Amino acid sequence: MLRQALEELGIASDPRVSLDPKGSATPELEIVHSPTTGQPLASVRLDNAESLERAIDRSHAAFLRWREVPAPVRGQVVRAIGDEFRRHKRALGAIVTAEVGKIVSESEGEVQETIDIADFAVGLSRQLYGLTMPSERPGHAMREQWLPLGPIGVISAFNFPNAVWAWNAMVAAVCGDTVLWKPSLLAPLTALASNHLADRVARRMGCEDLFTLVIGRDDAVGERMIADRRLPLISATGSCRMGKRVGEVVARRLGRTLLELGGNNAAIVHEDADLELAARAILFAAVGTCGQRCTTTRRLIVHEKVADALVSKLVKAYGSVKIGDPAREGTLVGPLVNARAVEAFEHAIAAARQQGGTVLVGGARATVEGCAGHFVQPTIIRAPASNRLPIAQDETFAPILYVFTYRSAEDAIAMQNGVMQGLSSAIFTSNAALAERFLSPAGSGSDCGLAYVNMGTSGAEIGGAFGGEKDTGGGRESGSDSWKAYMRRQTCSINFSGKLELAQGIRFE
Ligand code: NAD
Repeated sequence: MLRQALEELGIASDPRVSLDPKGSATPELEIVHSPTTGQPLASVRLDNAESLERAIDRSHAAFLRWREVPAPVRGQVVRAIGDEFRRHKRALGAIVTAEVGKIVSESEGEVQETIDIADFAVGLSRQLYGLTMPSERPGHAMREQWLPLGPIGVISAFNFPNAVWAWNAMVAAVCGDTVLWKPSLLAPLTALASNHLADRVARRMGCEDLFTLVIGRDDAVGERMIADRRLPLISATGSCRMGKRVGEVVARRLGRTLLELGGNNAAIVHEDADLELAARAILFAAVGTCGQRCTTTRRLIVHEKVADALVSKLVKAYGSVKIGDPAREGTLVGPLVNARAVEAFEHAIAAARQQGGTVLVGGARATVEGCAGHFVQPTIIRAPASNRLPIAQDETFAPILYVFTYRSAEDAIAMQNGVMQGLSSAIFTSNAALAERFLSPAGSGSDCGLAYVNMGTSGAEIGGAFGGEKDTGGGRESGSDSWKAYMRRQTCSINFSGKLELAQGIRFE
């Protein structure tokens, strides 16, 4: 299946890739393992300092050409790229499934996000609007315009190996930027395939090197990339730990960052909520992608009057979730990405138990016949009556849901906000006033970048700006006016009066 998909996408014959991997990883070679079987899938030759240097040079040279292309014409190239992804959605989805273990419908859903953001970017290519503003001086005009920024460095996490790049790349491309992408070493095949699809369309249309890929280790390639002044913006998606490092290095050279980091998302369920709807939404948000979404629901904050009823619905639903080979129809939960992720899952459960938490369902590795990969049981842990469970402050990238109870809505909102991360949040209630309180325009409700009413914390649409506050990094990608991060703003003033007028009435004669 993987070979067939790689052949369809023209990657099977890429000299960097071997589908007959031998030996173990070296500084020059990475072995890609299947999370489902634990077996090696391929080896990929890695970039180094010299090839990174050449890649940045190429990306910069291409930027100087690309920025001269009118934005609506750039949009035509992005339109053709979106169509190419439409044609190869299934094959690319199959690579995502093989490499990171997402179930097929989620893998194809991820490619659909790429298609959607390409469509969005095509429209945007005619809407990169600036402003005009009245000048205080007679015979003067003033306006703001948005200009291309440069080659954009994109660093992506393993769990959205295609869409995160596309959110950046499609929008950056219509803005007149080129893109240099460093993917996660857990998902280089998806990156090779995605970049190849976009690059071959762009080349066919006469635009070389709009999309450049470097695959390398963080010390040899990642650190050099973030320190390079030729990349005016580094858009990095991954853990808070990585974001802090990237933020520090890029700030030292006064570059720009767009940081999309970890989440620790909560759903509040009020006593008047539709519990059936809440249970279904929480199930998908907590268990989908085996808990490996930045927007996964990790904390459930439920009113004490309905806690038992909701938790028993969830425990029942968890018991019937099919764990298995993500490529098989009917599977809802695939594996964690690797053995380290399983260890983190086990560590969190042991810590929760030690801190007084009670495991209500799950709590152990899962076995799947014929698959020796990294499977775990989706887990619900009830916090002690004190609601003190320090491990719930951390983002463990696994399907663990911690349950807390509350009496007053104010307490629930304070608990939801009481973590370092600020990505996604949700409230389930039929009380319109409480929903509005949660979204208060004073900012005293949810402190997250994403706030939902009567829906789960995961599964954002591309039309809105995506991102989070606090340790989640503050970046915004995807829809709305996120495009402004990929351009530089210029304020232009034009004097057509024939006289020299100074602002603020200053006289200098
Ligand atoms: P990670 O932090 O281990 O790695 C992410 C990327 O950063 C990889 O490409 C890695 O090689 C790179 N990287 C790490 N250190 C670097 C350095 N010093 N210099 C340059 N590059 C460096 O994260 P992961 O395990 O791949 O992904 C899971 C994490 O990503 C979770 O915390 C999740 O919440 C987060 N995530 C956030 C979003 C979002 O939009 N907020 C989306 C997806 C994933």
